[in-house]
Amino acid sequence: MRKIAKSIVIIGAGMAGLAAGCYGQMNGYRTKIFELHDLPGGLCTSWLRKGYVFDGCIHWLVGSSPANNFYRVWEELGAVQGRQMINHEEFFRIESKDGKALIMYTDADRLEAHLKELAPEDANTIDELAGLIRKFASVQVPIGGGLLENLKIMGKMLPLLKYFRQYGKLSVKGFAGRFQNPFLRESFTAIFNMPDFPMLALLMTLGFQHRKAAGYPLGGSLNFAKAVESRYLQLGGDIRYKARVTEIITENNRAVGVRLADGTEHRADAVISAADGHATIFEMLKGQYLDDEIQRNYRELPIFQPIIQVSLGVGRDFSAEPHNLTYPVSEPLSIAGELHPTISMKHYCYDPTLAPPGKSALVISFVSNYAYWQKLGYGSEAYRAEKEKILAQVIAALEQRFPGSKDQVEVSDVATPLTYERYTGNWQGSMEGWLITTATLRKKISDTLPGLKNFYMIGQWVHPGGGLPPAAKSGRDIVKKICQEDGRKFSTSTP
Ligand SMILES: Cc1cc2nc3c(=O)[nH]c(=O)nc-3n(C[C@H](O)[C@H](O)[C@H](O)COP(=O)(O)OP(=O)(O)OC[C@H]3O[C@@H](n4cnc5c(N)ncnc54)[C@H](O)[C@@H]3O)c2cc1C
Repeated sequence: MRKIAKSIVIIGAGMAGLAAGCYGQMNGYRTKIFELHDLPGGLCTSWLRKGYVFDGCIHWLVGSSPANNFYRVWEELGAVQGRQMINHEEFFRIESKDGKALIMYTDADRLEAHLKELAPEDANTIDELAGLIRKFASVQVPIGGGLLENLKIMGKMLPLLKYFRQYGKLSVKGFAGRFQNPFLRESFTAIFNMPDFPMLALLMTLGFQHRKAAGYPLGGSLNFAKAVESRYLQLGGDIRYKARVTEIITENNRAVGVRLADGTEHRADAVISAADGHATIFEMLKGQYLDDEIQRNYRELPIFQPIIQVSLGVGRDFSAEPHNLTYPVSEPLSIAGELHPTISMKHYCYDPTLAPPGKSALVISFVSNYAYWQKLGYGSEAYRAEKEKILAQVIAALEQRFPGSKDQVEVSDVATPLTYERYTGNWQGSMEGWLITTATLRKKISDTLPGLKNFYMIGQWVHPGGGLPPAAKSGRDIVKKICQEDGRKFSTSTP
């Protein structure tokens, strides 16, 4: 007699939950995803406002081309087939008050030449940087393939091990300190605007871009997520939208299903939470399955601060402008209680699907403070007033650099940390979960909870640094783990 396939409930249809669903279906499990929003993707999203699509996520997607082995995972998930990827010539550009511009070219040779022109006194450090980028271009993502594949990856990574050791504890700020040229030193420090952002993470990012393996998927982030949703549905998966899980039901220290906000119960043989870690552990499971480390993590580990995203639909063609530009403003902007001397603007003119012809979708974002917004309260008068104030300042700042633009703004939208919290459930509106620092770079966070069986966690709250590839990989890895526990051979094709 044929054994009935085990059932799995997955909480959240972000990239991690969708991936777990796909691999679960590929391996003969009966999966069901419950998602609180009415769309797939979680943080990997975009939104339509009066003819403009504002993208809220992907700037670079590791594995966007077969030059990086993670491409295979995106293929398995149906995300990249037939999708055009844009590889920018410039990663970003930072302008100074006195008219200088640091252009982070994605091509290491071009970057090297440009930096040497800007700062000939730093030729040695620039050589070191460019050499490292070329070396890190061959980094592959270990995705746990067969023996042959693992050996191949190890062969490619072996020559890099000494650099991983050498630069493992160095931050971008630490590296920037080596530049004698003040503009280069300041601009490099500002790259990720985080005090302890690991140099290794920057080198990998620049290496992938040099290799043209971290592009932008044409069509934007929501379309990318929808492709994975389609794959899941084709595989026979089941997604329920507007279905907020309020409780993970346990019996005898086993997860046996979930309860939704509407009171309905949904039983399964196993539960995977691909939702926010804090809510999963402290709300859905009421803090019943904890150890010292988990408590310490949620008390002490830094998280990515939330952001404010100002999106503008502008009746003007920005395609000749740098697509990712940071420039100084005449007076610091006062944004949610903090002063910002520069503004960072992206336009998406390279993706014609996001704005009507001759017009531009712009995104300006600021790292912000959750507590400030929480105090205002979602939807309050003070909250709305702060959004208006931010919008007015951003439009004025745009006008400084692009005269005439203030009268060309046709559509505007301001998303706050509370928007991210509301639509994705992420703790304190965090944009990527645990902050990546030189200390958390190699930190492992368990994908199970002490004392609870048949329960797993995936996504950015078990992978410091977040990002779409780790989210997708965690969905893949968890199904592999469940297959191992069930004595099944893991498969990446349809059963
Ligand atoms: C502005 C921005 C830019 C980014 N740029 C990039 C980039 O260029 N490249 C890159 O790789 N990554 C990027 N990221 C990071 C990336 O988007 C995230 O790390 C990744 O999408 C996280 O996926 P996830 O599935 O772990 O979590 P999420 O996307 O947060 O998904 C969790 C899902 O669970 C749902 N959920 C939560 N609680 C419940 C509940 N109680 N019941 C039911 N459902 C629930 C949520 O609605 C959500 O859909 C960016 C993120 C942001 C915000």
